[in-house]
Amino acid sequence: MQQRHNSYFSSPDRGDCDCHAPSSEPTTALSAQEIADLLHMVEEEKLAGDVYETLYEKTGIQNFGNIVQAERRHQSAVQSLLKRYGIADPTLGKGLGVFENSKFADLYQVLITQGQQSIADALKVGAKIEDLDIADLNHLLANCQRSDFVRVYENLNRGSRNHLRSFDRALKTHTQECYTPEHISQAQYDAIVSAPHEQGRGCQEHSQQRGRGQGHGRGERSIC
Ligand code: ZN
Ligand code: ZN
Repeated sequence: MQQRHNSYFSSPDRGDCDCHAPSSEPTTALSAQEIADLLHMVEEEKLAGDVYETLYEKTGIQNFGNIVQAERRHQSAVQSLLKRYGIADPTLGKGLGVFENSKFADLYQVLITQGQQSIADALKVGAKIEDLDIADLNHLLANCQRSDFVRVYENLNRGSRNHLRSFDRALKTHTQECYTPEHISQAQYDAIVSAPHEQGRGCQEHSQQRGRGQGHGRGERSIC
């Protein structure tokens, strides 16, 4: 699919990046599960960024262009927790589609192949990644007591819900197809996509990046 749809699919969603944890909180030793969760999430955020970057390049669908930077910020938010606790970052120096966890490497290949079949398939890939993210983050939040983790996970989850709304809306607007959730329930999916965009508290350091190269008026914004 070589066609470009830059303005056609441009998203009205706004950036609301508040995803990094405050740096002043005390740190205590992490459990093996807490470490495993961080390592999982940093690669899952990289997966989202890598797939969207690749699909934006291959398809030109603007939703991917809008969201890719938000995924890089999500990855960076988890990286900041890894750094705080002195854990080696498994994504460091790894190129597109390269992961420690072979599950993510396989998923990357499957998703970029599927995403190049049609516009609907591309948008469904986006919805599938957000579906997976939300399910994993809901699970982590239900089992997490650590306030700095909760803050990061909640912000990633809010961003993921906004991304899911963006892909769902584009599917309904531009194709005759819809996405069937595989990780969260249909009821959860319906509740998310029928709710309005969620605002974060804003993030000055990222505000200058918003809208760059995404023209077409009405304040194009990235989505965090
Ligand atoms: Zn994300
Ligand atoms: Zn996302």
